[in-house]
Amino acid sequence: MGKSLKRIGLLTSGGDAPGMNAAIRAVVRSCTFYNVECVGIYRGYQGLIEGDLMLLNARSVNNIINKGGTILKSARSNEFRTKAGRKKAYENLKEANVDGLIVIGGDGSFTGGMKFNKEFNFPVVGIPGTIDNDIYGTNFTIGYDTALNTVVEAIDKIRDTASSHNRLFFVEVMGRDAGFIALNAGVGAGAEEILIPEENLGLERLLDSLKRSKRSGKSSSIVVVAEGDKIGKNVFELADYVNENMPEYDVRVSVLGHMQRGGAPSCFDRVLASRLGVKAVELILDGKTNIMVGLVNNEVVTTDLEKAIKGHHSINKELLKVSDIMST
Ligand code: ATP
Repeated sequence: MGKSLKRIGLLTSGGDAPGMNAAIRAVVRSCTFYNVECVGIYRGYQGLIEGDLMLLNARSVNNIINKGGTILKSARSNEFRTKAGRKKAYENLKEANVDGLIVIGGDGSFTGGMKFNKEFNFPVVGIPGTIDNDIYGTNFTIGYDTALNTVVEAIDKIRDTASSHNRLFFVEVMGRDAGFIALNAGVGAGAEEILIPEENLGLERLLDSLKRSKRSGKSSSIVVVAEGDKIGKNVFELADYVNENMPEYDVRVSVLGHMQRGGAPSCFDRVLASRLGVKAVELILDGKTNIMVGLVNNEVVTTDLEKAIKGHHSINKELLKVSDIMST
């Protein structure tokens, strides 16, 4: 290993995700293992601009592998979108003798990291941490598996009340641009229909399908709706529309909201975060930059940040078919 770097900066940025702490722990302990210092940067890029830095050691990350959120805090920083803001960030890193940066976040955070690398020739390695799973170059982002389990558990509970009252529930889950959570949690929770941004089912087909379910003897139904679905109505308008057209159903809406981001990370996310954290440190010490670590076919791999941002991580169409077959 080259090991020309002496101090690595670490930050979490964008939306928080369960497992970010496990990734922080992995990065900090790998730095200790390889005899380099790790500087924690609080509140993402905004904290970097404001110089909110603190040296971390292996003991700073005791007992956090099981905690949701991020001990480094996260933030969205408009100032970092400006060249002047990024220059301040660079000056703070230089002043603190930090010579490499590991960014845990989503595609926005990687876009910022890529610009920073280009402008200042500063080594940047990304670790994908977002519940949305919408990043190219990894089968799974840190936090996604935990969010899926949280959503499935919530829908299981909603189903109990739906079936007791013959209700039709629309359950809105996170996913403005990507339907991974809706599709996988929908199949896992046995939803009758799943509406995702990648596929427009259409209002008529939705009604037909719900009517068919009713005729086949179902007394309650769950429809999982991703925030960004393309059917043309928000979840409340959708409920009103179905209510008008299917008066026999008592239609309700449940928006799961931010609870999907919280909670203890699943074992899968902890292991993923540990593997990606170790690899990120090894790569930056090896002189690699402008790349993201990810997991593909259970192997830790790297992807250029630009490709990770611009590439398209497609949904698995087979799951749509499985969902259709299961709702007969
Ligand atoms: P999530 O997927 O959870 O929303 P994210 O990393 O995509 O996470 P964003 O809010 O898009 O979250 O980005 C996080 C931060 O990265 C922004 O607040 C900003 O500071 C920085 N960033 C995003 N896009 C750019 C850009 N085009 N140029 C510079 N910095 C950017």
